[in-house]
Amino acid sequence: MSPIATDLAAAAGWAAAGAAAWTLLEYTLHRGLGHRWPDNAFGREHTRHHATTHYFAPTRKKALAAAPVVLATAAAAALALGPRAGLAFAAGLATAYVAYEVVHRRAHTHGPRGPYGRWLRRHHFHHHFHAPAMNHGVTSPVWDLVFRTYARPGTIRVPEKHAMPWLVDPSGAVRPEHAVAYVVTRRRAPAPAAAAAPGG
Ligand SMILES: [Zn+2]
Ligand SMILES: [Zn+2]
Repeated sequence: MSPIATDLAAAAGWAAAGAAAWTLLEYTLHRGLGHRWPDNAFGREHTRHHATTHYFAPTRKKALAAAPVVLATAAAAALALGPRAGLAFAAGLATAYVAYEVVHRRAHTHGPRGPYGRWLRRHHFHHHFHAPAMNHGVTSPVWDLVFRTYARPGTIRVPEKHAMPWLVDPSGAVRPEHAVAYVVTRRRAPAPAAAAAPGG
Protein backbone atom coordinates (compact mmCIF):
# COMPACT_ATOMS: atom_id res chain seq x y z
CA MET A 1 0.00 0.00 0.00
CA SER A 2 1.15 3.52 -0.71
CA PRO A 3 1.79 5.72 2.34
CA ILE A 4 -1.34 7.77 1.54
CA ALA A 5 -3.50 4.61 1.36
CA THR A 6 -1.99 3.42 4.65
CA ASP A 7 -2.79 6.79 6.25
CA LEU A 8 -6.35 6.70 4.93
CA ALA A 9 -6.89 3.14 6.14
CA ALA A 10 -5.58 4.10 9.58
CA ALA A 11 -7.87 7.17 9.68
CA ALA A 12 -10.87 5.04 8.65
CA GLY A 13 -10.01 2.60 11.44
CA TRP A 14 -9.87 5.37 14.03
CA ALA A 15 -13.13 6.86 12.72
CA ALA A 16 -14.79 3.45 13.10
CA ALA A 17 -13.38 3.24 16.64
CA GLY A 18 -14.88 6.68 17.35
CA ALA A 19 -18.28 5.55 16.04
CA ALA A 20 -18.10 2.42 18.21
CA ALA A 21 -17.19 4.60 21.20
CA TRP A 22 -20.31 6.69 20.52
CA THR A 23 -22.54 3.60 20.85
CA LEU A 24 -21.18 3.08 24.37
CA LEU A 25 -21.68 6.77 25.16
CA GLU A 26 -25.24 6.59 23.77
CA TYR A 27 -25.96 3.70 26.13
CA THR A 28 -24.30 5.12 29.25
CA LEU A 29 -25.66 8.67 28.87
CA HIS A 30 -29.19 7.35 28.32
CA ARG A 31 -29.04 4.83 31.16
CA GLY A 32 -27.06 6.98 33.63
CA LEU A 33 -28.07 10.60 33.07
CA GLY A 34 -31.43 9.82 31.44
CA HIS A 35 -32.81 7.25 33.88
CA ARG A 36 -30.62 6.41 36.87
CA TRP A 37 -29.72 9.95 37.96
CA PRO A 38 -32.14 12.05 35.91
CA ASP A 39 -31.72 15.29 37.91
CA ASN A 40 -29.58 17.01 35.26
CA ALA A 41 -30.26 19.02 32.09
CA PHE A 42 -30.19 15.95 29.82
CA GLY A 43 -32.22 13.90 32.30
CA ARG A 44 -34.93 16.54 32.55
CA GLU A 45 -35.22 16.73 28.75
CA HIS A 46 -35.28 12.94 28.56
CA THR A 47 -37.98 12.64 31.23
CA ARG A 48 -40.03 15.06 29.15
CA HIS A 49 -39.43 12.94 26.02
CA HIS A 50 -40.82 9.91 27.89
CA ALA A 51 -43.83 11.83 29.25
CA THR A 52 -44.58 13.35 25.84
CA THR A 53 -43.10 11.03 23.24
CA HIS A 54 -43.51 13.64 20.51
CA TYR A 55 -41.23 16.03 22.42
CA PHE A 56 -37.55 16.36 21.48
CA ALA A 57 -35.11 18.74 23.09
CA PRO A 58 -34.47 21.69 20.75
CA THR A 59 -31.57 21.07 18.32
CA ARG A 60 -29.85 24.29 19.46
CA LYS A 61 -29.77 23.02 23.05
CA LYS A 62 -28.36 19.66 21.91
CA ALA A 63 -25.71 21.28 19.73
CA LEU A 64 -24.66 23.53 22.64
CA ALA A 65 -24.30 20.49 24.90
CA ALA A 66 -22.63 18.28 22.28
CA ALA A 67 -20.05 20.80 21.00
CA PRO A 68 -17.89 20.94 24.17
CA VAL A 69 -18.07 17.14 24.57
CA VAL A 70 -16.89 16.59 20.99
CA LEU A 71 -14.15 19.24 21.34
CA ALA A 72 -12.94 17.74 24.64
CA THR A 73 -12.97 14.25 23.08
CA ALA A 74 -11.04 15.51 20.06
CA ALA A 75 -8.44 17.19 22.32
CA ALA A 76 -8.07 14.13 24.55
CA ALA A 77 -7.90 11.75 21.57
CA ALA A 78 -5.35 13.97 19.80
CA LEU A 79 -3.17 13.97 22.92
CA ALA A 80 -3.49 10.20 23.37
CA LEU A 81 -3.30 9.07 19.72
CA GLY A 82 -1.61 11.94 17.88
CA PRO A 83 -3.40 14.69 15.95
CA ARG A 84 -4.47 12.73 12.85
CA ALA A 85 -5.77 9.64 14.64
CA GLY A 86 -7.35 11.83 17.33
CA LEU A 87 -9.16 13.95 14.79
CA ALA A 88 -10.39 10.86 12.88
CA PHE A 89 -11.60 9.30 16.16
CA ALA A 90 -13.47 12.48 17.17
CA ALA A 91 -14.95 12.85 13.66
CA GLY A 92 -16.20 9.24 13.78
CA LEU A 93 -17.74 9.82 17.20
CA ALA A 94 -19.39 13.11 16.17
CA THR A 95 -20.77 11.58 12.95
CA ALA A 96 -22.22 8.61 14.85
CA TYR A 97 -23.77 11.02 17.36
CA VAL A 98 -25.49 13.03 14.60
CA ALA A 99 -26.63 9.78 12.94
CA TYR A 100 -28.11 8.66 16.28
CA GLU A 101 -30.02 11.94 16.63
CA VAL A 102 -31.48 11.55 13.14
CA VAL A 103 -32.28 7.85 13.58
CA HIS A 104 -33.93 8.35 16.99
CA ARG A 105 -36.09 11.23 15.79
CA ARG A 106 -37.10 9.36 12.63
CA ALA A 107 -38.05 6.31 14.71
CA HIS A 108 -40.72 8.51 16.26
CA THR A 109 -41.72 10.47 13.17
CA HIS A 110 -41.37 8.02 10.25
CA GLY A 111 -42.23 4.37 9.78
CA PRO A 112 -39.59 1.66 9.25
CA ARG A 113 -38.22 1.01 5.76
CA GLY A 114 -36.40 -2.30 6.29
CA PRO A 115 -35.46 -4.93 8.88
CA TYR A 116 -33.07 -2.63 10.79
CA GLY A 117 -35.67 0.13 11.01
CA ARG A 118 -38.28 -2.38 12.21
CA TRP A 119 -35.88 -3.81 14.79
CA LEU A 120 -34.79 -0.39 16.03
CA ARG A 121 -38.35 0.88 16.52
CA ARG A 122 -39.53 -2.19 18.42
CA HIS A 123 -36.39 -2.16 20.59
CA HIS A 124 -36.83 1.55 21.37
CA PHE A 125 -40.60 1.52 21.84
CA HIS A 126 -40.30 -1.44 24.19
CA HIS A 127 -38.09 0.90 26.25
CA HIS A 128 -40.65 3.71 26.00
CA PHE A 129 -43.87 1.82 26.68
CA HIS A 130 -42.98 -1.40 28.51
CA ALA A 131 -39.67 -1.31 30.35
CA PRO A 132 -37.80 2.01 30.71
CA ALA A 133 -35.07 0.17 32.67
CA MET A 134 -34.29 -1.97 29.60
CA ASN A 135 -33.10 -1.39 26.01
CA HIS A 136 -31.08 1.78 26.58
CA GLY A 137 -29.19 1.42 23.33
CA VAL A 138 -31.07 2.99 20.42
CA THR A 139 -28.90 2.28 17.39
CA SER A 140 -27.58 -1.11 18.56
CA PRO A 141 -28.36 -3.81 21.12
CA VAL A 142 -24.67 -4.47 21.86
CA TRP A 143 -24.34 -2.66 25.20
CA ASP A 144 -27.75 -3.85 26.40
CA LEU A 145 -26.50 -7.39 25.81
CA VAL A 146 -23.17 -6.67 27.53
CA PHE A 147 -24.79 -5.02 30.60
CA ARG A 148 -27.79 -7.37 30.69
CA THR A 149 -30.46 -4.77 30.02
CA TYR A 150 -31.58 -6.35 26.76
CA ALA A 151 -35.25 -7.31 26.51
CA ARG A 152 -36.68 -8.92 23.41
CA PRO A 153 -39.82 -7.00 22.54
CA GLY A 154 -43.15 -8.76 22.12
CA THR A 155 -46.20 -6.95 20.79
CA ILE A 156 -45.68 -3.27 21.55
CA ARG A 157 -48.65 -1.76 23.33
CA VAL A 158 -48.66 1.95 22.57
CA PRO A 159 -50.91 4.19 24.69
CA GLU A 160 -53.25 6.12 22.42
CA LYS A 161 -51.86 9.52 23.40
CA HIS A 162 -48.32 8.43 22.47
CA ALA A 163 -49.22 6.79 19.14
CA MET A 164 -46.59 7.67 16.56
CA PRO A 165 -48.04 9.41 13.47
CA TRP A 166 -46.76 6.64 11.14
CA LEU A 167 -48.34 3.88 13.24
CA VAL A 168 -51.97 4.88 12.99
CA ASP A 169 -54.37 6.03 10.30
CA PRO A 170 -56.44 9.21 10.68
CA SER A 171 -59.09 7.31 12.68
CA GLY A 172 -56.44 6.25 15.21
CA ALA A 173 -56.39 2.57 14.18
CA VAL A 174 -53.06 0.77 13.74
CA ARG A 175 -52.17 0.64 10.04
CA PRO A 176 -52.39 -2.96 8.74
CA GLU A 177 -48.67 -3.22 7.91
CA HIS A 178 -47.81 -2.62 11.59
CA ALA A 179 -50.57 -4.71 13.14
CA VAL A 180 -48.34 -7.77 13.68
CA ALA A 181 -46.03 -5.85 16.00
CA TYR A 182 -48.09 -3.06 17.59
CA VAL A 183 -51.42 -2.41 19.25
CA VAL A 184 -52.73 0.94 20.41
CA THR A 185 -54.29 0.87 23.85
CA ARG A 186 -57.14 3.21 24.65
CA ARG A 187 -57.97 4.54 28.05
CA ARG A 188 -61.01 2.70 29.33
CA ALA A 189 -64.00 4.84 30.18
CA PRO A 190 -64.61 4.75 33.94
CA ALA A 191 -67.28 2.25 34.97
CA PRO A 192 -70.61 3.88 35.78
CA ALA A 193 -70.82 4.38 39.57
CA ALA A 194 -74.41 3.04 39.80
CA ALA A 195 -73.30 -0.35 38.47
CA ALA A 196 -70.59 -0.73 41.14
CA ALA A 197 -72.80 -1.88 44.00
CA PRO A 198 -75.69 -4.04 42.82
CA GLY A 199 -78.58 -4.07 45.20
CA GLY A 200 -76.91 -1.68 47.60
ZN1 LIG B 1 -37.50 7.98 22.02
ZN1 LIG C 1 -35.30 6.55 28.03
